[in-house]
Amino acid sequence: MFKQNKVLNSFTSSIILFFLFSMLIIVILNQIFIQQELKKYTEYDTIMINKLGQIRGGIQRYSKLKLINNKKYIIVQKNINQIFEIINNYLNNNPSLIPYDRIISFYDKYNSVQSLWEQIQKANDKDNLLKLSEQVWKISNELTCLMTKIAKQKVKAFEKIIYIFSLITIIVIIIVIIIVYLLVRIGLEKSTITDPLTKLYNRLYFNNQINYLKNQYERNKKPFSAMLIDIDNFKKINDTYGHHIGDEVLKNVAKIIKTTIRKTDIACRYGGEEFIILLPETEKSKAKEIAERIRKKIESSIQYDDNPVTISAGVGEFNEKYKTIHHFIHDVDEGLYVAKRTGKNKIITV
Ligand code: GH3
Ligand code: MG
Ligand code: MG
Repeated sequence: MFKQNKVLNSFTSSIILFFLFSMLIIVILNQIFIQQELKKYTEYDTIMINKLGQIRGGIQRYSKLKLINNKKYIIVQKNINQIFEIINNYLNNNPSLIPYDRIISFYDKYNSVQSLWEQIQKANDKDNLLKLSEQVWKISNELTCLMTKIAKQKVKAFEKIIYIFSLITIIVIIIVIIIVYLLVRIGLEKSTITDPLTKLYNRLYFNNQINYLKNQYERNKKPFSAMLIDIDNFKKINDTYGHHIGDEVLKNVAKIIKTTIRKTDIACRYGGEEFIILLPETEKSKAKEIAERIRKKIESSIQYDDNPVTISAGVGEFNEKYKTIHHFIHDVDEGLYVAKRTGKNKIITV
C-alpha cells in the first residue's frame, strides 16, 4: 500500500530549498572567513620568527667583528637596531601577535635581549663582550623557539576550528542532499499515483488500494464499499462546448467528490469521465447515501446553459459473496449500467 503522505506543495518545498541553500551559502562564507582570519592572524608569525633569528645571528656577528676590531660591526649594529625597530612596530600594531598566555614569557625574554644588546654595544672589555654575547645567544635562541611555538599553537587552534566547521559543512550538505532527495521522491511518488487533470488518485493507486482493502477484509471481515461514477452525456458536453470545458467539468466533478467523501475514502479517476471511490469499513447503505449526496451536489452546482451536469453510479459492498476483485467490480459496473439504461442521473446499488 502506498503511504498517504501529506505532500508538500511546491511553495513549501521552494521555501525549504531556499533556506537550505542559504544555510549552504552561510557555511561556505564561514569557511572563506576562517581562511582569511587564519591568514590575518598568523601572517606576521613567520616574519617575527625570521626577524628574531636575524637578531640572534646579528648580535653574534657584531660581537665577533668587534672582538677582532673589524669596523664592519657598525653596519651590523645599524641593521640590528633597524630590525628591533621593525619588531617593536609589529608588536605595537598587532596586539594579537603574542597570545595572552605567552605575553609574560615573551616580553621577559625580549626585554632581556634588548637590554643585553644595549650592554653589548657599550662593552669594551673583551671578556665582558664574550660573556654577554654567550648570554644573548641563549636568550635570543629561546625567544626564537618561543615564537615558533606560538605560531604552531595558533595554527593548531585554527585547525580545530576548521575541522569543526568542515564537519558542520559536511553534515549540512548531507542533510541538504537527504531533504532534496526526499522532496524529489515524495514528488515522484505522488505524481506516479495522481491523475494530472483532476488531481485524484489514478488507476494504479486504485488497484493497489482495493487489493489492500480485500486483504484487510479477509483478515477482519469488515466490509468496504465501492462507487463507480460516470458523467451522463459527457460526450455532448464536449461536442457542444469544446474539450476545454469538458476538462473543466471533470475537474469540478472531482472537486465535489473530494469535498463530499470522508478523509478515509479514496477517490480515483477510473477512466475518461469515470470515477471510482473506495469507502473502507463502509456498508453499501451508507455508501449509497454518500453517492446520493455527490449526485445532488453535482446536479445543483455544475450547469451549462441551464442544463445541469448529472452523474450515474453503481454502488456495491465487498463481502463474502465475492471471491475476486474482478467479480466485485464487474457487479458495481453492472449497477452503473442499469442506472444508465433506466434513465441516468441515479444511483443503483448491487
Ligand atoms: P453516457 O451518459 O452514456 O455516459 O454517455 P457519455 O457521452 O458520457 O459517454 P461516452 O462514452 O459516449 O463519451 C465519453 C466521452 O468522454 C468521450 C471522450 O471523448 C470524453 N473524454 C474522455 N476523457 C476525456 C478528457 O480527459 N477530457 C475531455 N474533455 N473529454 C474526455
Ligand atoms: Mg463512460
Ligand atoms: Mg458518461
